[in-house]
Amino acid sequence: MARYGDNAIDEVRQRADIVEIIGAHVRLRRTGRNFVGLCPFHNEKTPSFSVNPERGFFHCFGCGAGGTVFNFIMKVEGLTFPEAIRSLATRYGVSLPELKNDGPAAAERDALTRANQTAAEFYAHVLWNTHDGELAREYLRSRGITTETARAFMVGFSPARPASLAKALEKRGLTEAGIKAGVVKRDAMGLHDAFRARVMFPIRDAQGKVIAFGGRVLDARMPKYLNSPESPAYSKARTLYGLHEARQAIASQDRVIIVEGY
Ligand code: ZN
Repeated sequence: MARYGDNAIDEVRQRADIVEIIGAHVRLRRTGRNFVGLCPFHNEKTPSFSVNPERGFFHCFGCGAGGTVFNFIMKVEGLTFPEAIRSLATRYGVSLPELKNDGPAAAERDALTRANQTAAEFYAHVLWNTHDGELAREYLRSRGITTETARAFMVGFSPARPASLAKALEKRGLTEAGIKAGVVKRDAMGLHDAFRARVMFPIRDAQGKVIAFGGRVLDARMPKYLNSPESPAYSKARTLYGLHEARQAIASQDRVIIVEGY
């Protein structure tokens, strides 16, 4: 995980306008040095939530919520601390030096991410823009999945031909990463695609990066679902499908319903 130095964090905190940021979620009224409003973290009719711009803190006397602008963003948007820093740094134009704890493991994860992202874009292209995708488009329609939903979840289709994605990855120098990610395989016959003639569901991490795939057949072939193997980018036990799309709603509702399947 990226770590930032204290200087960079301080700079983001100083540049970020806490009243503007909290004011986007809470109607604030000035009283002396503070701003007050109805707390977004508990139900109340009279304001016990206050923001002090000079000190850069917010505090609720009702539920005890409080902290810096980072704590507010983390709570409201469901972000981790580094994500909150990055989000505000981008918004207020602070460039963040990534402290180097990179090394080969990070480089490998990066290549895996690019291979998975390339595969997701490739499958989506096949689904929407090619003749091969027609059967899959028909299947999605028959299951009541709208184009809008399918696009939001980056659904795609893997062609039946043996080495379409393999060629696309080879062109980008991502063959080895593609093998580690489990989207292509190498055996005595050469390189070939791991997923063929399947509706492809990209599995994303909480930040929205594609880290694996689930592929479903259109006919009665077995197995019905094929999933990417575990990799340095993908741990099945630590991943929840759809979390990226749902996290903001989970944070604001403080509630989540988990169901089986994609
Ligand atoms: Zn409160």
